[in-house]
Amino acid sequence: MRRIGAHVSIAGGVSNAIYRQQDIGGNTGQIFVSSPRIWKVSPPSSEEASSFRMQRKKFDQAPYVVHSMYLVNLGTKNDDIFYKSLKALQEELNVAHMLGIEYFVFHPGAHTGGFEREEGLKRISQGLNELLVPKDTKLLLENTTGKGTTIGRTFEELAAIIEGSDKDFSSLGICFDTCHAFCGGFPIHTEKGLESTIDKLDEVIGIENLGVIHLNDSKHPFDSRKDEHEHIGMGYIGDEAFKRFLNDPLLTNIPLILETPVSQDLDHSWDISKVKSFIRNSDV
Ligand SMILES: [Zn+2]
Ligand SMILES: [Zn+2]
Repeated sequence: MRRIGAHVSIAGGVSNAIYRQQDIGGNTGQIFVSSPRIWKVSPPSSEEASSFRMQRKKFDQAPYVVHSMYLVNLGTKNDDIFYKSLKALQEELNVAHMLGIEYFVFHPGAHTGGFEREEGLKRISQGLNELLVPKDTKLLLENTTGKGTTIGRTFEELAAIIEGSDKDFSSLGICFDTCHAFCGGFPIHTEKGLESTIDKLDEVIGIENLGVIHLNDSKHPFDSRKDEHEHIGMGYIGDEAFKRFLNDPLLTNIPLILETPVSQDLDHSWDISKVKSFIRNSDV
């Protein structure tokens, strides 16, 4: 069975995420466990956590994903930000463990504060060394558009971070965001471009180390280095490209998480239905 869901809110208690996912027709999901734009992580009570686990089991939403807050940056020379990031990541990982969540996605960071790219890459690897990744959770580095000094546009950079750390693919992996790849210069909108991108991913990272796909269309054109998500098929990637992507035999076992916009007349249920209609020969 294909796993398709969306990033949903935990407002009012973390188990509400499960009901929200049920409402939109998802069978996997992603949440923030803290406000994405403030440093503080407030863990759920043990009652809330066990209710989340129970409801998730009941509705068979799996696997599940925590997305880290946006503030974290392990690629910076600034010690204050680096250590704040480490602390926040560890606290969020601990919440993922409490909730029994399988994947934890974060953006590798940006080389700021006077660091060159190579120094930024090294510091991210050092940061990974400091983190205690719970046994049942995988830490996934997400590909980025490569905007500004952002690290992680290419599979080679993601691999270099992992190889530079003392961890390996038993606790680490990657998350592939279709909008980020497209705006980062990977031509996944063409048949050839999709094939070469997937081949590269497999060669450099290994398809077995791809934990999660963020399925998003893009509000901006190919190679624009911008990052604004659009409803599936309504952006520059388009319907035909998503049909090919969703039926690529190498990707059929990877959970799909939508991070598309939510408006009054077009919410995630619309995107989920559309994705399902694009998948051939499957019991979705
Ligand atoms: Zn994403
Ligand atoms: Zn994005």
